Amino acid sequence: MSLIVQKFGGTSVADLKRIRSVAERVAKSFDQGNDVVVILSAMAGVTDDLIDMANQVTVLPDKRELDVLLATGEQTTAALLAMTLQSMSYPAKSILGYQAEIITNCNHGSARIVKIGADRIKELIEKRNIVVMAGFQGCDPEGNITTLGRGGSDTSAVAIAAAIKADTCEIFTDVDGIYTADPNVCEKARKLSAISYDEMLEMSGLGAKVLQIRSVEFAKKYNVPVHVRSSFSEEEGTMVVNEDSSMERLIVSGITHNKDTARITLKKVLDQPGVAAKIFSPIADAKILVDMIIQNTRAEGLTDLTFTVSKKDFSKALEIEKQVAKEIGAEKVFGDESIAKVSVTGVGMRSHSGVASKMFTTLAGENINIIMISTSEIRISCIIEEKYAELAVRVLHKAFGLDKD
Ligand code: ADP
Ligand code: ASP
Ligand code: MG
Repeated sequence: MSLIVQKFGGTSVADLKRIRSVAERVAKSFDQGNDVVVILSAMAGVTDDLIDMANQVTVLPDKRELDVLLATGEQTTAALLAMTLQSMSYPAKSILGYQAEIITNCNHGSARIVKIGADRIKELIEKRNIVVMAGFQGCDPEGNITTLGRGGSDTSAVAIAAAIKADTCEIFTDVDGIYTADPNVCEKARKLSAISYDEMLEMSGLGAKVLQIRSVEFAKKYNVPVHVRSSFSEEEGTMVVNEDSSMERLIVSGITHNKDTARITLKKVLDQPGVAAKIFSPIADAKILVDMIIQNTRAEGLTDLTFTVSKKDFSKALEIEKQVAKEIGAEKVFGDESIAKVSVTGVGMRSHSGVASKMFTTLAGENINIIMISTSEIRISCIIEEKYAELAVRVLHKAFGLDKD
């Protein structure tokens, strides 16, 4: 008998028929003698619809109220699954984020979990209930409802698994595992039987939305084995685990792309101490995350500085920098939203050279211009024109020998 956390994503609970299939799968695990805690997403498309509705009311919805609204998506599916299980004579109880004591900071819209009480869940399990928890939501120390950022139910699931010391955390989704590239973009992508936390952290951070990055951070920190698998088949999926010696050590294990990026360039900025701080401090104050930064040195003590942010923060960041440019005397500020980031990742890169040159040569072979480059020990990323993102994924996948036969 094990303690299992099972998370089902939006497509898996898209309608009542699918909720019934989820109930049957959960019931099967319960009948095998396991204790089961289920974490649910909202029905596919519901979170987007709720955001649209809020934007119809006002251009800038209050973040606190938006979270109250968004949390209803997961509340709906949790109640419906609990009812479905009860109709099948199973002892199920739904529970919302605040009831499960998922305490977060007060950063509405992308709150971070700071503490989990979990006593309520443990009590329900001890009484042999199937606990059905609404994912994606928590509450701040003042009791305000918060949400954990898009894709946040993954994080709810792994965090709960860590808090209750579950034996495993199963993430049921619309693909049957983690692939060497998004299987919906690259049909030659191969399913991995296992991937290390570090590689998955890179892939999630670079746009592979199959797992929200914060869920992988939790999994790594608390050593939670995560099994990503399909809700539509019984097939084994991909284990996300600690790197071990039996793991296939590919130099490059995955190609990712992310279209949610935009760049801002400040031209002819004075090349002297304090200027970068003036450019980035107001961006940080606005709680905007900066991804890549490059600075080109020019002649006569001047420099051009370019950085990227996510598309949702683009207009705000551009507005801020127009102001900054006036203050620091930059010649010009401009932005570009039609870019994408494509990356190659792999732990084997630590001990191999030539990956970057192969990546650049492959992109050049398709006449794809590289706008920005950044690297880490186990990753190389290039910013390119958005229209080439899918093509870039496919050619890199092939060039690094990842295509399935
Ligand atoms: P859910 O609603 O179940 O949370 P998501 O849409 O958030 O599902 O995540 C699953 C999607 O992640 C897949 O449909 C796939 O398009 C995408 N994806 C991106 N990169 C990968 C990858 N390397 N392996 C598997 N899926 C990926
Ligand atoms: N419903 C939320 C979203 O669409 C959370 C999730 O599905 O994980 O982002
Ligand atoms: Mg998701």
